[in-house]
Amino acid sequence: MGNADLYVCKKCGYEFYAATGIGMLFPSLCKRTVDEIRAGKYREEWQKLLEEHADVKVNCESDFFVCEECGTPKTDLNLSMYLPVHLKKDIPYAMPADLKNPRKYKLLAEYTHRCDKCNGVCKLVDEQERSTLKCPECTGEMQVDISRLMYWD
Ligand SMILES: [Zn+2]
Ligand SMILES: [Zn+2]
Repeated sequence: MGNADLYVCKKCGYEFYAATGIGMLFPSLCKRTVDEIRAGKYREEWQKLLEEHADVKVNCESDFFVCEECGTPKTDLNLSMYLPVHLKKDIPYAMPADLKNPRKYKLLAEYTHRCDKCNGVCKLVDEQERSTLKCPECTGEMQVDISRLMYWD
């Protein structure tokens, strides 16, 4: 089940809704995402990697990113690619926790996310860094509005 947090700037009221993790529809989301990569929705390089590696797995978890240039946060599919360490019978998708286990998978290529606003490079932020998130509008302190905490899916 995915998490959904509403971040609110204490100073100017800027709101950012962050849905992260994986939802109930994860298997179909994975399938659709791989189809979209194959169809060229994402970078050409990703399309090629998918063609070259039959057993590649894509991390379809929704992750939290922040633009390194302008500080705008966003959530997006992780999209990094992994290869299984040991050959096994083909499975249609892999859970993110397995992908991050170096005994099971190794990272093939990390997807670079771009900011929708300024096209700057976005970096992945972990739980810890999320708590010190700054407002992209006024650099005020952002706080999770727990009264509106919810789960998606
Ligand atoms: Zn603000
Ligand atoms: Zn930006």
